[in-house]
Order: sequence, then structure tokens, then C-alpha cells
Amino acid sequence: MTQHHRITLLPGDGIGPEIMAVAVEVLREVASKCALQLEFTEALIGGAAIDATGSPLPEETLETCRKSDAVLLAAIGGYKWDNLARQQRPETGLLGLRAGLGLFANLRPATIFPQLIDASSLKREVVEGVDIMVVRELTGGIYFGQPKGIFEAETGEKRGVNTMAYLEGEIDRIAKVGFETAQKRRGKLCSVDKANVLDVSQLWRDRVTLMAAQYPDVELSHLYVDNAAMQLVRAPKQFDTIVTGNLFGDILSDEAAMLTGSIGMLPSASLGADGPGLFEPVHGSAPDIAGQDKANPLAQVLSAAMMLRYGLDCPEGADKIEQAVLQVLEQGYRTGDIMSEGMKAVGCQGMGEALLEALRSF
Ligand code: NAD
Repeated sequence: MTQHHRITLLPGDGIGPEIMAVAVEVLREVASKCALQLEFTEALIGGAAIDATGSPLPEETLETCRKSDAVLLAAIGGYKWDNLARQQRPETGLLGLRAGLGLFANLRPATIFPQLIDASSLKREVVEGVDIMVVRELTGGIYFGQPKGIFEAETGEKRGVNTMAYLEGEIDRIAKVGFETAQKRRGKLCSVDKANVLDVSQLWRDRVTLMAAQYPDVELSHLYVDNAAMQLVRAPKQFDTIVTGNLFGDILSDEAAMLTGSIGMLPSASLGADGPGLFEPVHGSAPDIAGQDKANPLAQVLSAAMMLRYGLDCPEGADKIEQAVLQVLEQGYRTGDIMSEGMKAVGCQGMGEALLEALRSF
């Protein structure tokens, strides 16, 4: 039976429209092969929305996103809007979108592509075969806990305060995403905390351990965050799925991503309890190369694959896109950011054409 899905496209700024155009062509090709009917609606966000409406997240955009089954975003921001007041900056639009869709789980894969292994700063034998997913809690923890601020202490000095706090319910809902993500992968979940020192982490560990009984097919382990940071560079292949809080996840997801060495290859997903998820590359709008057909569209295309897998429950479509990416890399196609000697240089559009060719060959 044909599945019908409504997708909101947010091309945004800089290289956004170029890489989005490639992702949409790829999705159309996959849809024709997987009995998927995809209905695309484009909306404004970031600098493009500021120019057209004065707001980085027009109400109409948020409404369109809420009514859709998934949201595919490219990137926002650029020099032109850098000096606006914080409320009018493109980034405020993105934060508003995440809050407006209630996205509390951020999924960031760090996958080593065999063809790009030399882009990593670590030794080949350490990173070969790395395939990690970091599930980070996004809306709680120390970034949001109260009290926070800079206060006057009894000594007359200023005292900076932030509070790391999690409710049981907040831990349970992110732990559930962690277990379910591990189920879709290799069935191993590592929960990262600092339970030897922090009470909030002890509660985190207790709740995650309790939930494990509901997922007998997932093998659960725990690590303290300092050890996890060390293990990620010492022996990253031991990890499948990592679940952790906001602060630890912020740091570990960047550390894990950099094992791969190439920012133009990194997708991400943000999910809520219900409603549409948001799928976007990790990189920004790269204003230095915008409009020059130099952008690498693969992070955007891989974000579209995550959308099919985690947002629209179409793993076979996601598999096809990921296979196509592997195939074009195997054929030697490279945009400037991942170019190496002896490879075939292509622009953003050229990479898109190579992907379509690969998809048609399956
Ligand atoms: P950036 O990720 O845009 O660029 C960093 C460097 O990586 C640049 O040299 C750029 O050319 C290169 N690069 C990034 N993506 C690439 C791709 N797909 N292909 C080839 N090269 C690529 O980060 P920045 O320069 O710090 O920020 C530029 C703008 O993007 C700023 O306005 C910033 O606020 C915004 N930004 C947006 C997001 C987002 O939309 N989620 C994230 C980060 C930064």
C-alpha cells in the first residue's frame, strides 16, 4: 500500500537552497521505488524569512511544520543578519522551531565511510567500522534548570549559578528513545552519566536501569562521562547507541562526530513525543561558498535518509539513500571539502546527479 507523507521543506539561507534541491530530487527518486507518496511544502525560516516577513520564524512556517509528518531543514544564518538584535537573528528562528515542535531528543550519528577514512585525525585501525548514534536530551538539564543566573553572594562577590535537574518523566522519555533507537540498530545502548558525583545522574541511572526490563533485546551498559569521552577516542568501535543528558550529549556528540573528520557528511534528527521530527545537517549555511555550486549535499541527503528511518518509518527508503551515498563515494565522486588525490571533483549539482544515477541502478 502506498504511504502518503507531508513534508515541510525549510531551505533557509546560504548553501541551504542548493543542498535542499539535491535532497528533494533524491527523495522523489526513492519515493518512486518504495511506494511512497511525498507531498512537499516549502516554508521560510532564518534570514530568508527575516527579509520577507521581518521574523526569523513566521507563525505560518510553524503552523505548516506542525501540520506535516516531518520537517527537513537545510541551514540558516549568514553575514547579512549577524548584527541584528538576538530576537531577530536567524538562530532565534531555529530555537523557536525546536521549542515549538517540542523536540526533546537529538540523534546524531557518527559513521565512518570507508572511502573517507583518511579524513579522520585518528588512526585507520581505530576508526575503521565506527558507527555510533548519540541520543542527547535537548530541552532539560543544566541548560534550562532553575535557579540560574549571576547573583551576589554573602561575601559580596558575584556567584554564577546553573542547576542540573531532571524529572523522572524527562529521563524516561529520552531513555525510551535511546532503547528504541538501539533496537533499530545493533541492540546495544550505553547510558552516560556522572552518577559517582551527581545526584541527578544517580536518578538518571536508576530510571534507565528500570526501563531496561522492557527492552530485553537491548544490552544496556553505563559509563561515567569522563570515561565515555576517553573511550570514544581510545576504542570508538565498542559503541553502538549512546544515550545521555543535555550537557554531556552536547560535548560527546561533537566529539563522536569529529571521529569522521568531515562536517559536510554529518546529518541529525530531533524528535518529540508526537508530531513531526526535524531533520537537518549538523553544518551551518556556509556563506563563504554559497551560490557557487561548491557545497557538499551529502549531510543533507543523509538527513533525508534519517527522516525516512526515524520520522516516517520507511527504513527501506533510508537504506537506499545510504547505499547510494556509499556508491558515489566508492565511484570516487568528491566535493571540494572531502576531495583527495585521484578522486573525481564534482560540485553540488554533480554530486546530486551521481546520486540519482546510483539510485536508478539499484
Ligand atoms: P558552517 O558549518 O556554515 O561552515 C564552517 C566551514 O565548513 C566553512 O568553511 C564552510 O564552507 C564549510 N562547510 C560547511 N558545510 C559545508 C558543506 N555542506 N559543504 C562544504 N563545505 C561546508 O559554520 P560557520 O561558518 O560557523 O557558520 C556560518 C553560518 O551558519 C552562521 O551564520 C551560523 O550562525 C550558521 N549556522 C547555522 C547552523 C544551522 O542552521 N543549524 C549551524 C551552525 C551554524
